[in-house]
Amino acid sequence: MARMAVVHLARGKTQRIAEGHPWVFQGEVHRITGDYNPGDIVTVVDGRGTFMGRGYINPASQIIVRMLTHHDEQIDKEFFRKRLTKAWQYRQRLLADTTACRVVFGEADFVPGLIVDKFDDILVIQALSLGIDKWLPEIVEILDELIAPRGIYERNDVPVRELEGLKQHKGYLRGEFDPRLVIPENGLKVVVDVANGQKTGYFLDQRDNRRAIRPYSKDARVLDCFSNVGGFSLNALVAGAREVIAVDASADALASVKENAELNGLSDRLSTREGNAFDILRQLETAQEKFDVIVLDPPAFAKNKASLEGAVRGYKEINLRAMRMIPEGGFLITCSCSYHMKSDLFKAVVADAAYDAHRRLRLVEERAQGVDHPIVVGYDESHYLKCLIYEVL
Ligand code: SAH
Repeated sequence: MARMAVVHLARGKTQRIAEGHPWVFQGEVHRITGDYNPGDIVTVVDGRGTFMGRGYINPASQIIVRMLTHHDEQIDKEFFRKRLTKAWQYRQRLLADTTACRVVFGEADFVPGLIVDKFDDILVIQALSLGIDKWLPEIVEILDELIAPRGIYERNDVPVRELEGLKQHKGYLRGEFDPRLVIPENGLKVVVDVANGQKTGYFLDQRDNRRAIRPYSKDARVLDCFSNVGGFSLNALVAGAREVIAVDASADALASVKENAELNGLSDRLSTREGNAFDILRQLETAQEKFDVIVLDPPAFAKNKASLEGAVRGYKEINLRAMRMIPEGGFLITCSCSYHMKSDLFKAVVADAAYDAHRRLRLVEERAQGVDHPIVVGYDESHYLKCLIYEVL
């Protein structure tokens, strides 16, 4: 085997990496010695040549190296076996039920670029970077041994792969099975379609936040905006909401909301509205509708720093309209899954909306993603989901 290439970081560009951040950007590299192919494992050293760790390289990406280890160890199948075993043990230890959970959360489980979600006895995999895509055959073998799933499905139909020079595709990696599954969540049954649902089929990160709607829901009229397959709606209904309206732009998602409500015997108090939530919020406000609880769980408006300004306007608008429709003593459950929309900024946007709406707010709960999506100190990007529950006064 040829000798491993060495990436020399520029002076003054090492602290973030030393503190555990896993990404080396193009502009932080002083020079690279030795030959490599895109996706190869490389050694990373500081400006003095001192060893910092190993990762994989992709010169086509702004993130030229993603770090795998800070130790002088070999990166081979055994390395990945150890990482995946630790990730799975962590879930088994911390979750009461691992029937449906995220098993591997990329960088936050020290396996950059790899997502593995478990839905009953099916695993869904995403390889978001070239370096990890190369290891996919080994990773599938390891997961097969570790978890013994009935099947494995690949959801690599994600645009970020193109930034890595990878193609988008999806399909069966192990076994052939009905992609529609029923998973348990918070004591409810949820239909998940791993082939056609959004992302890997279902948004597992909101599990605990969906449950958190329950104490606010008794006898309440609830508006669940950006409902997807209805996770918040189902929890509100089971906790005794008198009426729930689920809003989403996707007809498929709303069909699943109805199916899920029926499956749980909760469909009598539920209705759905298909369309752009911005428009529907405006229409409901014009019609002077009132809701005791409104959930806002939009997709990431800020995909990068450049789109933050537009995102702020979007978050402000939906939060403002929602607050205007909540009578005194009602609750707003407002979420942002954009990492770039940092917690303080998000709170400031909500406060600004409250000022314009002439409402006072009390922050009742400040929540994040579930523990199967760990937050790594030194890698702030791993704290992406904010779920704030406010009392509206
Ligand atoms: N609350 C959901 C997850 C929401 S994901 C849960 O608990 O699982 C975001 C949802 O917003 C997706 O279902 C997507 O179809 C929908 N969406 C995206 N843009 C929208 C828009 N402008 N109006 C309404 N829905 C939208």
